Amino acid sequence: MKRIGVLGSTGSIGTQTLDVARIHKDKIKVELLSASKVSDKLLEQIREFKPKYVYVCEQNKDIDGVKVLSGEEGLKELVELDIDLYINGISGIAGIKPTYYLLQKNRNLATANKEAIICLGEVLGNKYKNIIPIDSEHSAIFQCMFSGRREDIKKIILTASGGPFLNLPLDEFKNITVEQALNHPKWKMGRKVTIDSATLMNKGLEVIEAHYLFNLPYKKIDVVIHPDSIIHGLIQFNDNSIIANISSPDMRIPISYAISFPERWFNGSDELDLTDIGKLEFFKPDYKKFPLLKLAYYVGEKAGAYPIILTVSDEIAVNMFLEGKIKFTDIYRLIQTVIENLDFETPKNLNDVLNIIEETERFIKNLKLN
Ligand code: MG
Repeated sequence: MKRIGVLGSTGSIGTQTLDVARIHKDKIKVELLSASKVSDKLLEQIREFKPKYVYVCEQNKDIDGVKVLSGEEGLKELVELDIDLYINGISGIAGIKPTYYLLQKNRNLATANKEAIICLGEVLGNKYKNIIPIDSEHSAIFQCMFSGRREDIKKIILTASGGPFLNLPLDEFKNITVEQALNHPKWKMGRKVTIDSATLMNKGLEVIEAHYLFNLPYKKIDVVIHPDSIIHGLIQFNDNSIIANISSPDMRIPISYAISFPERWFNGSDELDLTDIGKLEFFKPDYKKFPLLKLAYYVGEKAGAYPIILTVSDEIAVNMFLEGKIKFTDIYRLIQTVIENLDFETPKNLNDVLNIIEETERFIKNLKLN
């Protein structure tokens, strides 16, 4: 039995992890469920999977039959549990602390929480070799790595679907509505990552995530627009041979791979018939329409605290857009303004990271976009 702990269990990655666990009740035991708060959905998951432990940020009620952990103290208990693999499906910077404590304790971690990987990159990057990535592009690269030696990698290529606005003329970007931006053509995902996919910030964050996860310089990390979302990532080796990872766009595939690794288990996904697909398309990214991707490379190269500033300002800007407070095109304007105006020392520990986050949040609160 593989004992797993699911962080962010009520979110998109969490529920799909439980879909996989449901198929393999004989092989996977869910020992821990964790969410920001007790909700009907969490209670339903507890009834179905009967975990030993539940973690919620703030404990507001007891739950029959499980030990409820909460707050900072509970987080420290959470990382010491009898669990073979933790799966982090938390969205955004809320996942930083659990990621930090789990890696500090050298626990096995499979994670889709790119914001945490980025924000802790300067502080904990040396521990990232223990991570199995769930982000589909990074799972793809992780899988392609087995085809050659690290030192023979010429470059890695992350694919991007291009999101819902790939073919929208630039002058119409200012009128994009929340509903349009949430309507992703290929992937079923949470709200934050769906908006990030529409601006291509998601791909920008993934470039930085790849830099820290695989310890590769930015000049060896490429992005290609691939609207079909069938190829998720590729590695070009020094002999110019390219190894690609191909599957239908279904997060249950990278999730189940992370759980079953090095084995491969059925996960409920459809078999891919290449003759159904017929042909695949690839384009260069358009930086005029999607300047956040370019900004991410700039920020990644600048390193230090900048990737954290970028991550935090993006999270706030996306929330403001979702709440109708700013326009789609203001997401870039806000982030760029913050990057231009803030500067901190390179973080050396978790406290430094949290301080940079707090200072960035304070700066944005007082910011007036004109
Ligand atoms: Mg991804």
